[in-house]
Amino acid sequence: MIIGIPKEIKTLESRVSMTPGAVETLTRRGHTVLVESGAGKGSGLPDEQYAAAGAKLTDAAGAWGAEMVIKVKEPIAAEYQYLRKGLLLFTYLHLAADKPLTEVLLKSGTIGIAYETVQLPGGGLPLLLPMSEVAGRMAPQVGAHHLEKSEGGRGLLLGGVPGVPQASVVILGAGVVGTNAAKIAMGMGAQVTVLDVNHSRLQYLDDIYQGRIVTVSSNEPNIRKAVTYADLLIGAVLITGAKAPRLVTRDMIGTMKEGSVIVDVAVDQGGCVETIKATTHAAPTYLVDGVVHYGVANMPGAVPRTSTYALCNQTLPYAMKLAQKGVEALHEDRSLALGLNTYLGELTYGAVGEAFGMPS
Ligand code: NAD
Repeated sequence: MIIGIPKEIKTLESRVSMTPGAVETLTRRGHTVLVESGAGKGSGLPDEQYAAAGAKLTDAAGAWGAEMVIKVKEPIAAEYQYLRKGLLLFTYLHLAADKPLTEVLLKSGTIGIAYETVQLPGGGLPLLLPMSEVAGRMAPQVGAHHLEKSEGGRGLLLGGVPGVPQASVVILGAGVVGTNAAKIAMGMGAQVTVLDVNHSRLQYLDDIYQGRIVTVSSNEPNIRKAVTYADLLIGAVLITGAKAPRLVTRDMIGTMKEGSVIVDVAVDQGGCVETIKATTHAAPTYLVDGVVHYGVANMPGAVPRTSTYALCNQTLPYAMKLAQKGVEALHEDRSLALGLNTYLGELTYGAVGEAFGMPS
């Protein structure tokens, strides 16, 4: 198959969909890979590495002219011109939040397979997972930075020093983000408390960390108490498909220590802290009652090289199936079939249809 890897042109997006190693895997199987010149630059992957991996370097139109285009972000308006009947497009689409793109994909007859709806039999979302791992591991790192005095924080070192106690990190939610955040916070020497409503998640953390992480059942009184002693509060809850529950209320913020920091990773689902709003890497924080609020909705964008490799590790096996068999691969792989959102003018994902009152 002829596969295209365009350069991402959305503002501040530096990831690329395939690494040179992935390209080599595809070309060794006899596929032709057309990489737009400069596509890997933001992730520190120069054209020469792609050429050495067997790719043919081309321009945007050349990459988009392939039979299957593999991307990171959904197409933006400047890319709509390339969408056409029968084009296989494999990327994050987030259509329920983007009616114009949904209409363009349908009108053009593009076969749109969305990373975010590829789903394993147990309900897991394998192509969303790597970005949660990245954001979870980043959360204590950015929190530690903003605890510094010059950043508006309390002037605390997360790990303390001998004779001076470490900072207290409280994590709401023990899923992928929460577990990764706990691991890094503990590694930095902080005192870590994790709250979740799912007992088996707390059991898991208790087992592997043998009591070195404090686990607490998530309910209103326990959250209210934990918030008062948090130096760094990390929001990591998710109710699949729903807006994040508002667990930390406005009045609780008033009970927090001045200069303490909130990193609400769940901000992309509305956030679990009442006072959180989405911010950007350019201006990541603001203060409410002297508490530093960090609400960056695309945290992995700060570490494009790590994020590119993490994403490609997970997408390559599916990309390979699509390259080998085309749309036939959807008949053989139920998880991949769930990724199909648009097919030759038809909407094929129920939740997107529901969002716009369209038949699907
Ligand atoms: P996950 O499903 O793996 O984990 C969510 C956890 O929240 C689950 O363990 C669940 O039991 C728990 N939970 C639900 N209700 C709760 C409550 N009332 N109290 C305590 N815990 C509760 O999800 P995830 O992959 O860890 O993602 C978490 C959030 O982070 C999502 O909103 C996701 O979209 C977001 N995210 C944001 C970024 C970013 O850049 N900001 C990046 C990746 C993921």
